[in-house]
Amino acid sequence: MVGSQAQALLIRGGDVVSSEEVRRADVFIRNERIERVGALGDVTADATIDAAGKLVIPGAVDVHTHLDMEVGVTRSSDDFTSGTVAAACGGTTTVIDFATAYRGESLAEGLAAWHGKATDNAVIDYSFHMTITELARPADDLVAEMVEAGITSFKLYMTYPERLMVSDEVISEVMKAAERQGALVCLHCEDDATIAVRRAEALGAGHTQPRWHAQSRPPEAEADAVLRAIRLAENTGAACYVVHLSSAPALERVRVARESGLDFYAETCPQYLYLSAERYEDAPATAAHYVCAPPLRDPHHAEELWEGLKRGHLQVVATDHCPFTSADKRAGLAGGGWSDFTQIPGGVPGIETRLALVYQKVDEGRLGLTDWVDRCCTTPAKLFGLHPRKGELIAGADADVVVFDPSAERPLVAERLHMNVDYSPYEDITVRGWPSLVLSRGRVVARDGEPAGTPGWGRFVPRGPSGRLIDGT
Ligand SMILES: [Zn+2]
Repeated sequence: MVGSQAQALLIRGGDVVSSEEVRRADVFIRNERIERVGALGDVTADATIDAAGKLVIPGAVDVHTHLDMEVGVTRSSDDFTSGTVAAACGGTTTVIDFATAYRGESLAEGLAAWHGKATDNAVIDYSFHMTITELARPADDLVAEMVEAGITSFKLYMTYPERLMVSDEVISEVMKAAERQGALVCLHCEDDATIAVRRAEALGAGHTQPRWHAQSRPPEAEADAVLRAIRLAENTGAACYVVHLSSAPALERVRVARESGLDFYAETCPQYLYLSAERYEDAPATAAHYVCAPPLRDPHHAEELWEGLKRGHLQVVATDHCPFTSADKRAGLAGGGWSDFTQIPGGVPGIETRLALVYQKVDEGRLGLTDWVDRCCTTPAKLFGLHPRKGELIAGADADVVVFDPSAERPLVAERLHMNVDYSPYEDITVRGWPSLVLSRGRVVARDGEPAGTPGWGRFVPRGPSGRLIDGT
């Protein structure tokens, strides 16, 4: 009966980890909220969970997902039910998905479409960013309309000219409006001119295989675009967030920008920390599983990214969860089978495995426990206007709680995971550490890595100002 709304629940004796400290404490939950955290002695509850030997952390926040998204004739294979079930099993209790207003569509229409996908379907709480693909009205009006609707971050693309890319002028206009209204601009940084030239060269020479996807999107294309983003942020005074940063030179630019005092942030993703471009040397059908943008890099980039994460030059790990089944990958964007790398749906699954994968570096002693919680839970919540409701175990916060068993082992094979995809990028990895219990607003949504939630329990969370890391107190 654990978790029905009116009941009081006590999580006793765990090591409570925040972004700043680890302490032995009890967590008392009532009416979907955390009521007290501390040494609670003889407090009585309707149900008690023994967390001795376990870590108790805030539910993880994944600020980069693509659920139920149309891509060519196909769509990402997780919808808001299967995707959030998988998220919950892996310890994520809030996702921010990318709603998109395609050209010719108003932002309100784009947002309504994503509400339609999520409403009554999610097992954990969710919110949306809004992707802007053109400025049909003044940026200030568009941003104001979205902020009013609880959407305080915007995504802009520097590549994909067919459907998504906007000019630097548009980025600049949105940045100015976002700066005035407490919103955050998220950028996909890859220089499209570089990509277009390289892609044409590859295809012209008859190179059609997935490895040429990576060859045509080199690290320099990312670093050049990040530099443009920095200049635009400098000129407008806006906060800016680079999504899915994948390479060492781009990271170096972010580090320098931050040291110069800009509100400039970046996330990386598990695929860039764990996988490398060697995957593109597999047989084409398997290599296609790893086609994503930016592409996987040579291994030394991952080393730099881990170091950047540890030092705080990278502030967030998110997933860019955009799964396609083997059949969808094989069919290609137009259906009927791809004939070159540009026709392969781009994206990898990851919504379920992020928390445990990042934890492996804690287990190896290469990342602090508090850093793990900070990059996966607290900073994403703070940057995107969810804090203190999400991302921290404090009185008054939503009771989104993960009891994490540091000794649980789990092979990351597709059969043990719940994402709607028939392969796992991490199938050769058995992680140590997995959530044994996951609560969303006090309700059990996963137990020992298996689903226990109810579609429709998850609610839309309107967000506050985004883009500044302000201390909660
Ligand atoms: Zn993405």
